[in-house]
Amino acid sequence: MEKLYEGKAKVLFPEGPDTLRVYFKDEATAFNAQKRGLIPGKGVVNNKVSATLFRYLEAHGVKTHFLEEVSDREMRVWRVEILPLEVILRFKAAGSFAKRYGVKEGTPLKTPLVEFSLKSDPLGDPLICPEAILALGLAAEEELSQVRTTTLKVGELLRDFFAQRGLDLVDFKLEFGKRNREILLADEISPDTMRLWDQKTGEPMDKDRFRKDLGGVEEAYQEVLRRVLRG
Ligand code: UDP
Repeated sequence: MEKLYEGKAKVLFPEGPDTLRVYFKDEATAFNAQKRGLIPGKGVVNNKVSATLFRYLEAHGVKTHFLEEVSDREMRVWRVEILPLEVILRFKAAGSFAKRYGVKEGTPLKTPLVEFSLKSDPLGDPLICPEAILALGLAAEEELSQVRTTTLKVGELLRDFFAQRGLDLVDFKLEFGKRNREILLADEISPDTMRLWDQKTGEPMDKDRFRKDLGGVEEAYQEVLRRVLRG
């Protein structure tokens, strides 16, 4: 079938007028696609982890674009108009945040922190403040407030979910979309878009293994899937 859009990690195929099929690839990129590679089996892991987390969040009252898993690497979702924002929630300092403020990776934050980036490859996803989001008309005030509230709720739910599986959720990125004026959680929630540290060893179990050439990338993704599916 003809694709609608191909991104760095996923391909979107049109289905009905209202739905899409998302195919998860094994290709991996980092640092605004300057680093490229392959993580065999990643597409299967990200599809199954995302599907499981979307179902879990839906069961706790979070509205998402997820409809059903259709194969190992594919899910069916509602078509949405993606807000051009990456919404990041942080529980501990890591990555670009730790670097920006000169704090040690792993420093716990006093309160969970919501940050926004403008989704733009040419600009390298710059940070954007809520006032600029409103001034540029990227989201309405009510939408932004809903995005923030939902992100905090998702953070609490996911943190519990992973804690029960021996994983420390450090930070993650969400994307939201609009369908019939309703805001839905969209995109994916996977080891590509979260930092997960093993509670016992402190080892990263996510895309940082690829970003930082730590080795054992495939194994870490498989281990996350195993723990997520443990129920
Ligand atoms: N993240 C993502 N996509 C991006 C940027 C970040 O999924 O384009 C995720 C990343 O995996 C981490 C969180 O968002 O879990 C915070 O990332 P950060 O801002 O520290 O950026 P990074 O250091 O990954 O560039």
